[in-house]
Amino acid sequence: MLSSLPLRIGYGEDAHRLAPGRPLILGGVPVPHAERGAVAHSDGDAVMHAVADALLSGLALGDIGQYFPDTDPQWAGLDSRDILRRVLDLIRERGYEPVNVALVVTLDRPKLGPLRAEIARSVAALLALPESEVGVSFKTSEGLAPDHVQVRVTALLGRDG
Ligand SMILES: [Zn+2]
Repeated sequence: MLSSLPLRIGYGEDAHRLAPGRPLILGGVPVPHAERGAVAHSDGDAVMHAVADALLSGLALGDIGQYFPDTDPQWAGLDSRDILRRVLDLIRERGYEPVNVALVVTLDRPKLGPLRAEIARSVAALLALPESEVGVSFKTSEGLAPDHVQVRVTALLGRDG
């Protein structure tokens, strides 16, 4: 029975416009020397938002917009790590844990290579995974979207027992 396979794949993506005078936070890690940051209702952490959506989608639970609507003042300035923690609770209530995640960040500037290990560690810690289960790739838009940060994430979820 295919439906009894204890594995589910999820996919999520998120994008934010960049503007001066805002912090740029990716995967819970503040990006130093970022001239611009994400315009957002929360802290604009596109990695956290895309990972959370990937986990929800793996269990067909919708998306974070349903749980944390940006029209609701109680989520203004929210630390996006809290979004991911709440989404993890929803996954675990259904008997699932993340197995591994792979994320791709598209950003033209600044270069993120020096932050790869720190972002992987930060996301892994939140998901209670070894760092080796969090793949972090960086791309540029080749100038096609210089005013955006975009993140795409696949996640594998496994059922306990
Ligand atoms: Zn977002």
